[in-house]
Amino acid sequence: MKGNGLRIAGGTVVTAEASFHADVLCQEGRIAALLSPGESWPAAETLDASGCYVLPGGVDVHVHLQMSVGDQTTSDDFSSGTLAAACGGTTTVVDFATQTRGQPLEEAVVRRRVEADGQVAIDYSLHLAVTDASPATLEAIRKLAAEGYTSLKLYTVYASLFLEDREILRVLEVAAEAGLMPMVHGENRAIVEHCTERLRSQGKRAPRYHAQARPAVAEAEGVARVLALAEAVGCPVYVAHVSSRRALEEIRRARERGQVVYAETCPQYLLLSEEAYVAPGFEGAKYVLTPPLRLPQDTKALWQALAQGEIEVVSTDHCPWNYHGQKDHGREDFSLIPSGLPGIETRLALLWSEGVEKGRLSPERFVALTATNPARLFGLAPRKGTIAPGVDADLVVWDPGHEVTLRARGLHQKVDYCPYEGWQVRGYPRDVILRGEAIVREGRLVASRARGSFIARLRPVERAQETALGY
Ligand code: MN
Repeated sequence: MKGNGLRIAGGTVVTAEASFHADVLCQEGRIAALLSPGESWPAAETLDASGCYVLPGGVDVHVHLQMSVGDQTTSDDFSSGTLAAACGGTTTVVDFATQTRGQPLEEAVVRRRVEADGQVAIDYSLHLAVTDASPATLEAIRKLAAEGYTSLKLYTVYASLFLEDREILRVLEVAAEAGLMPMVHGENRAIVEHCTERLRSQGKRAPRYHAQARPAVAEAEGVARVLALAEAVGCPVYVAHVSSRRALEEIRRARERGQVVYAETCPQYLLLSEEAYVAPGFEGAKYVLTPPLRLPQDTKALWQALAQGEIEVVSTDHCPWNYHGQKDHGREDFSLIPSGLPGIETRLALLWSEGVEKGRLSPERFVALTATNPARLFGLAPRKGTIAPGVDADLVVWDPGHEVTLRARGLHQKVDYCPYEGWQVRGYPRDVILRGEAIVREGRLVASRARGSFIARLRPVERAQETALGY
């Protein structure tokens, strides 16, 4: 970058509030000014964006890179996963520092920082995934919040991760006092365990039974219970990966009572359904994730909720396991299939193509869902999530006419399949810029080193109204 910075000229700038013609001037890693087209400025390097949109870099607040479960580790490490994210137009991710039960939380954080720092191609931060509610853990939450770890992850399922209701209450109480945002995975553990055991004992062990083992009622109860616990201690809640109409209904009811609740969904729940599990052979394993894919009426309800502003964030829950060598550990038993699917690179292209291109979302809503809202809710604002003077110059030049056929081989995600193999998308990132410097130019990776940094976050912005997030 030259001394006078980079001028992204001739594009249509899109924020969560508006779209307008302006040139974006980047200097010293930040947006220095929005210039009228043609307004003069001393010799900056120019990037021609005519015919394209200029979007804030994507913010993906739910990813699992280099995550170990037992003796398996997700196939993308911090380097490959963040490069793939960049190729897809995402410039900030929030991953997790997950406590082994009983382990000092600070130790889990240090371990993750050692793994990620110096490896990440884009900026990143970490949620605190808390698995006990000991006095030491609660104290660590307060201390780490002051150091920029301003959100939590709480689980209601998984033997090594879940918290009992009393523990959830204690953690939410601290979150409310200290101003952290809790992200919650809500499913009823007893229902899931009971259904799984029953299916297995009936010899129903193929991937197609995964969805039956985790019915929507389990999600609805888990979400409703967490919302009740949050109400009892006066804490806002961010509900991760909402997959079903019934979970949405629970969120709606809590909001009607006046609770502050935010909802996230992911492209897979908007675009895929249970039918994926009946693919021939073991192929259904590619779609084993938690919560599972649902029915077409659920995907329809999710799209409606997006359009009505009842869902604030679309993230990925990127959790890639190779089909060969990892997913196939559950070949004889669906409950042993590692849960999760890849998506860090395809989030924006899928949501633009299926949402904006098909008239279901405005470009402004797209930006709100993929960048502005997640940045605000998780304390990345005011550095991230929009295009305005002073904000980090994380930008995407988006070519709305570029058509791409998604294929695992054409993507940068380090995983041997793509859940959307063969899908056509229209609209794709052309140039991706992190703090004023290109990572992707004309669709090609140009980053020569890992330029990403850890971002210490502020206390999340809380709003009393569910849709009052600036759209
Ligand atoms: Mn997850």
